[in-house]
Amino acid sequence: AAKAAGRNTYAYYSAEMGEDGLRRLQIQTELRQAFENNELTLYYQPQFDVQSGHIVSAEALLRWEHPVAGAISPTEFIPAAEECGMIIPISRWVFSEACKQAVIWQRQGLGRIVIGVNCSGVHFKQGDLVADVKAALDQSGLDPALLELELTESMLIESSQRVTQIIDQLKALGVQLSIDDFGTGYSNLAYLKRFAVSKLKIDRSFVQGLHVTKDNDAIVRAIINLAHSFNLKVIAEGVESVEELRLLQQYQCDILQGFHFSRPLKPQQFIEFVEKHLNVRPEPQATPARPR
Ligand code: C2E
Ligand code: MG
Ligand code: MG
Ligand code: MG
Repeated sequence: AAKAAGRNTYAYYSAEMGEDGLRRLQIQTELRQAFENNELTLYYQPQFDVQSGHIVSAEALLRWEHPVAGAISPTEFIPAAEECGMIIPISRWVFSEACKQAVIWQRQGLGRIVIGVNCSGVHFKQGDLVADVKAALDQSGLDPALLELELTESMLIESSQRVTQIIDQLKALGVQLSIDDFGTGYSNLAYLKRFAVSKLKIDRSFVQGLHVTKDNDAIVRAIINLAHSFNLKVIAEGVESVEELRLLQQYQCDILQGFHFSRPLKPQQFIEFVEKHLNVRPEPQATPARPR
């Protein structure tokens, strides 16, 4: 785009981009500062094994508390960071921070809790995801089996050599792979056969209102059956009610995550939550899923 000399940058962008573009630009500028000032943090949301009731894993979720604007949602600032490439240094920090935290959990005696980390499509496509994951593992000393990368269908739908190579190299590192937001992407499932993923995460939009919406109920059952026939585990995200929990147990979903159990927690809160949980009867065990 031609930038007229001497033109005021602010006016230029507000005229060309409209309000959404301006907000995004503002977010990008402030995000850069926030990142440099260590204002981004990771929260951790526990995930429960349906059979044992134990906390077996947790998802790391980025948080940005803006000093003036308050909390800005990752659904807003992640796309902004992807657009300007900042997602790559941010993701490196997320990987390394999450791995360090998982090592702390083990030292604290919380047991072998898998840490799930979201991967960005931009990082996957344009960055050196494999090297960045390896660096985080090496720096932290985390057992690679305790790191789970959450990929999305859009990353795997293309059957290029490059994609196959990245997946092979990640598997060679010993990390686990899961498919996030499963069901919202593509209907071509061939990649499930091609790539060694170990888990499908049913998107929250299907889990919510499972007990009231017949379509959601049918989709959730179909995804669970599909996953099991591929020998994959299924995790449901966004479990908010006991009704959803009961149905997911009945349908033999393997792992549950959602506000019904816990919101994403600050590092210290997460440790306290797990410690407390270790001392009480695990919640999801109430009615073990059993074939009838
Ligand atoms: P996601 O990976 O699908 O993460 C799950 C989202 O569901 C999180 O939103 C979580 O807080 C929310 N959630 C979990 N349980 C419930 C529930 O019971 N009810 C409701 N209403 N929501 C629930 P969050 O933290 O706002 O993150 C949104 C998205 O931003 C994530 O979706 C992920 O795509 C992206 N994201 C977050 N952190 C990172 C990160 O570190 N790196 C990258 N690349 N993306 C991230
Ligand atoms: Mg996720
Ligand atoms: Mg998800
Ligand atoms: Mg989602």
